[in-house]
Amino acid sequence: MAAERQVWELLAAVADPEIPVLSIVDLGIVREVREEAGGRLRVSITPTYSGCPATDVIRTLVRRALDAGGFADAALEEVLSPPWSSAWLSAAGREKLRAFGIAPPEEPVTGLRQLTAAPPVSCPRCASRETIRVSEFGSTPCKAHYRCDACGEPFDYFKCL
Ligand SMILES: [Zn+2]
Repeated sequence: MAAERQVWELLAAVADPEIPVLSIVDLGIVREVREEAGGRLRVSITPTYSGCPATDVIRTLVRRALDAGGFADAALEEVLSPPWSSAWLSAAGREKLRAFGIAPPEEPVTGLRQLTAAPPVSCPRCASRETIRVSEFGSTPCKAHYRCDACGEPFDYFKCL
């Protein structure tokens, strides 16, 4: 148990290559750390957007963190099902995004509104929902570029999956 917690702590210090304010634990990329029968640790990760060039980088960063932390014999596996969902982003991660000026993903609205349009995106600066999408792609393919009508500031929106 102690080793598992140690690994979670190690991985919580691994920053996401695209959004360095978030750790891969904040993003929900680390799915499981478990000790197998022989005492060997197995770490399961689910990459975010499958087209993301960051996936290889993340795998390398996790391997390096495990090696450096004394867990060179830990197995690292990628779990592709179920696919990563922005719903896995932790509450702390959402706060960090907002503080960084990136609107966190809005949870899909169930019911009627789902039929009409994408959920409105709140401005990370003033929380206004009077925002417009300027471009499908922001600074990385995983983000869309928005502008707030209330405060006039442009911002990135972490796209929902
Ligand atoms: Zn605003």
